[in-house]
Amino acid sequence: MLETWRQTLDVLKTRLDPVQFETWLSPLKQVEGTEGSLTLEVPDEFFARWVRDNYLDIIKDAVWDTTRCHVGIDFKISGSGGEKRARRGKSDRDGQAISRHEDLGERLVPRFTFDTFVVGPSNEVGHSACEMVAENPAGSYNPMFIYGGVGLGKTHLIQAVGHEIRRRFPDMRILYMSGESYVNEIMTAVKNNRLDAVRYRYRGQCDVLLVDDIQYLANREFAQEEFYHTFNELYNAQKQIVITGDQFPSAIPKVSERLRSRFGWGLIVDIGPPELELRVRIVQQKAAREGVKLSDDVASYLASRFTTSVRDLEGALNRVTAHALIRKIPLTLDLARRVTDRIVTDRRGRLTTDVVLKIVAEYFQLQVSDLKSARRHRGVSMPRQIAIHILRKHTGASLQSIGQALGGRSHTTVLSALSRIEKVIESEPATERALKDIERQLGMS
Ligand code: ADP
Ligand code: MG
Repeated sequence: MLETWRQTLDVLKTRLDPVQFETWLSPLKQVEGTEGSLTLEVPDEFFARWVRDNYLDIIKDAVWDTTRCHVGIDFKISGSGGEKRARRGKSDRDGQAISRHEDLGERLVPRFTFDTFVVGPSNEVGHSACEMVAENPAGSYNPMFIYGGVGLGKTHLIQAVGHEIRRRFPDMRILYMSGESYVNEIMTAVKNNRLDAVRYRYRGQCDVLLVDDIQYLANREFAQEEFYHTFNELYNAQKQIVITGDQFPSAIPKVSERLRSRFGWGLIVDIGPPELELRVRIVQQKAAREGVKLSDDVASYLASRFTTSVRDLEGALNRVTAHALIRKIPLTLDLARRVTDRIVTDRRGRLTTDVVLKIVAEYFQLQVSDLKSARRHRGVSMPRQIAIHILRKHTGASLQSIGQALGGRSHTTVLSALSRIEKVIESEPATERALKDIERQLGMS
C-alpha cells in the first residue's frame, strides 16, 4: 500500500484545480495502510472534515483508478494517538524543512510572484506599495487595502506579497485566505463547534494575514463579526494585514461600517485597467513563459482587442494558441482575428467542438479524454455537463452529435446532463462563475 498514496496524489493532481490540490490534497500524508484501508494524516479536525466533505469521493475514485480495489479512507489528526505532530513540526516526507506558514491557510499559486507581474502606470503604485509591505511587514503600511475590478491582478499581487515575505522572512507565519473560504470556514466551524480552533489559527498563530476578495463577507454578519475581532487583535499586536476588494472600502455594500472604516486605517491603493502598452507586455510575457512564439502584430492585436481585464486577455491568448495547436497551423494575425471574432460559435462541426472541449478540460485541469470517458464522479461529470451545456447553447449542435463528441453518449444522456447542470448553475454560484469564465475564454460573453 505504501506507494499507493503517492500514485493517487499524482492522479489527483491532474484532476483538480492547482490551488485546491495544493491546499487540501498535497498536505495529506499516508500514515498507515493495510489491504483495503488507507489512513491519512491531517493537521486538524477542521482539515479532516473539509477534506471528507469535499474531496472524499474524488479521492476514492482516484484510489480506485490506481489500485482497482475498494479502499476505505480514514483520517488521523497529527499529534493524536502518539503520532508526532508532523505538519506543525519541522520535517516533511523528503526531510526538507517546511515552514510553519504552510500550515495556516490556502496555498499560494507559485506563479503569482513579483517576478511575473508586469508593471505599468495603472498598477505601479499598488505594486510598489506591495513591495514595501513585503520588505517590511507591519513596518510600513498597515493594513493595506488593494482594490480594483475583476481580472486586474489583485490576487496576483496579494499572493506576491505572501511569496516575498516567505522568501525574506522564513519564520513569519503567513495566512492567505480568500474571503469566500473564510466565510465557509467560519460557518463550518460554527456548525462543528470548532470556532475556538479557527480563532486560534487566525489570532494566535499568524504574523501576516492576507485576505483576498473581502467583498465575500457582504451580508455575512457572523463572519464579519469574527473578522472584526481578528482584525483588531492582529492590528493591536502589530501584525501585517493585507486585504483586497473589488471596490473602495467605504463603497463595499453590506459590510458593517466599523469594519469598513478599519480597512482605511492604513494605505488604500487601487489597480486600474491596464494601458495598451502594458497589455502588450503582459501578453508577450505570458507567451514567452509558455514557450509560445508570438509575433508583434498578434500581440498588439490581442492587446487592443481585450482592454478591460488581464484575465480576459490571457484567456484570448489561450484560445488563439489552442486553435493553432489543434489545427497545427501557424499563429498568425489572421488566425487571431478569426478566433477572437467568435469563429468558435459558428457551426463548423469538429473544430468548434474540439476547441470547446479543450478549453473546458483545461479550465478544470482535466484531459479531453476525461470528458469523453465513462467516469462519473463529480470532478469529471460536472465539467462534462458544462461542456455539454456550452455546446448546446453556443454551437447549435444536435443532442446526438454532442453525445457523439463526448465518447458516444446517447441523446437521452445528453438531455439529462443538460437538465442537471442547469439546476446546478442556478443553485451554486461557484459553478455559475466557472461557466461564465469559460464562456468568456471562448469569447461567448
Ligand atoms: P483579480 O484578482 O484582480 O481578479 P488576478 O490577480 O487573478 O485578478 O489576475 C488575473 C490574471 O491576470 C492572472 O493570471 C494574473 O497573473 C494576470 N495578471 C494581472 N495583472 C498582471 C500583470 N500586471 N502582469 C502579469 N500578469 C497579470
Ligand atoms: Mg482575485
